[in-house]
Amino acid sequence: MTINYRDFIADVPDFPEKGVIFRDISPLMENGAAYSAATNDIATYAANKGVEMICGPEARGFIVGCPVAYKLGVGFAPARKKGKLPRETISVSYDLEYGQAALYMHKDAVKPGQRVLVVDDLMATGGTIAATIKLVEKLGGIVVGTAFLIELKDLHGRDKIKNYDMFTLMQY
Ligand code: AMP
Repeated sequence: MTINYRDFIADVPDFPEKGVIFRDISPLMENGAAYSAATNDIATYAANKGVEMICGPEARGFIVGCPVAYKLGVGFAPARKKGKLPRETISVSYDLEYGQAALYMHKDAVKPGQRVLVVDDLMATGGTIAATIKLVEKLGGIVVGTAFLIELKDLHGRDKIKNYDMFTLMQY
């Protein structure tokens, strides 16, 4: 059975603020067939790239990345917000529409030379994924690909990561 992934995305106008259409992935996560098909599609992409580790940013990057890691029998390393990781970390700051944000990873989360897939639920401006890629590379990992459920094409996030291969299940 082929799954039309778009049937499992809820479009929420004016959330979290006026003018934004929030693409809510929770119906996809809540449907076993759709969630496992999405996981399998990303896992196939990752397996073809010889991925040895998955990294994803808090929090929906975990929802997408962890089942892929389990499926492939590889590890998952989280990129988290300030104050969440208990041991020594490295960090990368990045620009938001208003202000700045930062992501952190444990210093030993990725081993030098490890082949890493970086994942998130959705790419908008590309700032979050670019920061996660920088963290992995600071640790010596090789980013062999990126994967998303959704790409918002109008925001041209792809321009921020044009040196990296990218896999998406849906484009809006
Ligand atoms: P960006 O850094 O601009 O690429 O934003 C990507 C991050 O923000 C992802 O972790 C998404 O979960 C979230 N995000 C941004 N825009 C949306 C949107 N329209 N709908 C749902 N999530 C979004």
